[in-house]
Amino acid sequence: MRLLFQTSDEDDFFGGFRDFFDSGTWFVIRNLLLFLVVVFWLATAYWVFKDARRRIRDRWLVAVATLLGLVPFLGAVIYMLFRPPEYLDDVRERELEIKEMEERLGRSDLRCPVCRAEVDASFLVCPVCTTKLKQACAGCKAPLDPLWQICPYCETPIETPASLEIGDSWEATAPPRRERRKR
Ligand SMILES: [Zn+2]
Ligand SMILES: [Zn+2]
Repeated sequence: MRLLFQTSDEDDFFGGFRDFFDSGTWFVIRNLLLFLVVVFWLATAYWVFKDARRRIRDRWLVAVATLLGLVPFLGAVIYMLFRPPEYLDDVRERELEIKEMEERLGRSDLRCPVCRAEVDASFLVCPVCTTKLKQACAGCKAPLDPLWQICPYCETPIETPASLEIGDSWEATAPPRRERRKR
């Protein structure tokens, strides 16, 4: 340094620098910086591990991703380029939704003719709007299909007409009930 910078002013200036770099302060700062760099490196590796666990099902692939994350700084960037786009939780949730939708489509979709609330085939009235949906058997109180002429559970003949209009409309596939009865 002394050879390069001849003028006394510069000499003092850079001499000051040299003293600074020789001093304990610089030693502390340098160690602190190194420490921060190491912490940052470990933090990125840990982040890669955590993120990979949420996105990758296979444990070995998570381990590989974590190893990649341990490559200082570049590893995390490379991981981000190749990681699966979705969280496992999201994938699972979507699969559940699809399954639920399929089940809903598979079910015979019975709805109240008045309020369109979902009703069960065994309901006598709509629980939402209290519309009468089916007649109950006089003998055993079982819900009766509008087409039935006798209760299949207790053999009681069905005499009073079931709540026909509603019954016909909410089971669109049923043939007109009255014609059947006349036979
Ligand atoms: Zn209803
Ligand atoms: Zn009955």
